[in-house]
Amino acid sequence: MAYQSLNPYDGKLNKSFPEITDAEFEKKLATAQSCFETWRFKSYAERATIVAKAAQLLHEQADAFARTMTLEMGKRISEARGEVEFSSRILAYYAKNAERFLAPVTLQPTVGEAHMESSPIGVLLGVEPWNFPYYQLARVAGPHLMAGNVLMVKHAGCVPQCAIAFEKLWIDAGAPAGLYTNLLISHTQADRAVDDVRIKGVALTGSVAAGESIATRAGKHVKVTSMELGGSDAFIVLEDADMAHTIKWAVWGRMYNTGQTCCAAKRFIVVDAVADQFLAEFKTALDAFKPGDPLDEKTTLGPLSTEGALVQLLEQVDGAVKHGAKVVTGGKRIDRPGAFMQPTILTDISPKNPAFRQEFFGPVALFFRVKDEEAAIALANDSDFGLGGSVWCKDVARGKRVASRVETGMMFINNIDWTDASLPFGGIKLSGYGRELGDMGIQEFVNHKLVRTAVMEAPV
Ligand code: NAP
Repeated sequence: MAYQSLNPYDGKLNKSFPEITDAEFEKKLATAQSCFETWRFKSYAERATIVAKAAQLLHEQADAFARTMTLEMGKRISEARGEVEFSSRILAYYAKNAERFLAPVTLQPTVGEAHMESSPIGVLLGVEPWNFPYYQLARVAGPHLMAGNVLMVKHAGCVPQCAIAFEKLWIDAGAPAGLYTNLLISHTQADRAVDDVRIKGVALTGSVAAGESIATRAGKHVKVTSMELGGSDAFIVLEDADMAHTIKWAVWGRMYNTGQTCCAAKRFIVVDAVADQFLAEFKTALDAFKPGDPLDEKTTLGPLSTEGALVQLLEQVDGAVKHGAKVVTGGKRIDRPGAFMQPTILTDISPKNPAFRQEFFGPVALFFRVKDEEAAIALANDSDFGLGGSVWCKDVARGKRVASRVETGMMFINNIDWTDASLPFGGIKLSGYGRELGDMGIQEFVNHKLVRTAVMEAPV
């Protein structure tokens, strides 16, 4: 069965869910379309009542939402709670700011007057990953519902209970039928949804393979899409970095969410002058992680999301080693029940090694020693991905210069506080296109319409 809620801490199956039938799917699509016909004409204040209520309920029920997530994909409970609270803040942010972001903009034509106005485009399909089971949903629901669109979401197969809980949130918040619909559908049904004339746009977050497949399909129908795909972010350490500060962030940047974050620090690029010190201190910190029950507040290392994710990561590490990489620490599964992986550091990864271009979605750090700043920038840019990255140095002006030269959608200097409701999130190259969050995130699926008034004679 494609939708399975399986606890990666002990491998036990909690519950499984069948995919919906084509007839059920059609009914949900028709309900969503009919909802759009009224929702599109609601005022921002009316929409905000429901979106703000959903934000409030998420906050009030944070413990229950977090527990469902931990049991389903293994996120440590404190991180799970943090994600729920952040999702609540995203919904509240759009409830408050959407009208301002989409307000008409006056233009200055040479003759007459003109403005741009924004209107919703219809039913949208979201395709979302398991690594942030609610945050990813809030990132699309907050802006696009406030813009007057309605949303249907195909969530990942391993988090059906989170998907169902988020749909119930909207019902509890008083949403009309069809405003937010969870779809337990197959890939084939998702393809059909993309083909359906009632679906006007697709927002996908996931792997490059999924993005290619859905974007190609949507392109055939000339439908608008946003693609938030993988990454292999560089963490550039220059010789004047504050090493104690940098190491703490390096550890967090690689290990947060057990390393399963699109914009996690994945390639540690360190200049020669401080490379030995960085590697030694980084290794000591990673070796201190202790596996345990992710529901236990004291646990520092949770399991990966699924056994499949662990097997894939182990295969990548083996492949890297076969092609010459050296294991500084870790590299194996942890000898205990559940999908646990040792925190791992690999070095000596040559450009010919397949690992050089791969995304490692788990607690595996790729370490590179470089001569200087120029070499660090060149290596950071030698990637098929272009999501985020960071620079670590005391000279902030230097950090900004380096950040400007790294080819990604986001750069951070002396922090990797990746995401904030008010900051646009997204990448370039194989990391995708379009932005979520901030004022840009709400512009992706609206019709920006020009309206011009002018009394002019027709040209003869
Ligand atoms: P994935 O396998 O691509 O799955 C993501 C979603 O796409 C799931 O709902 C999945 O459904 C669906 N899907 C996959 N192939 C599909 C297809 N051919 N047709 C229709 N739906 C399809 O990705 P993942 O491994 O779960 O997630 C990790 C990836 O997401 C990483 O590469 C990570 O970097 C990226 N990510 C990016 C961002 C960002 O903002 N840039 C954020 C988070 C994660 P099933 O589960 O049913 O297959």
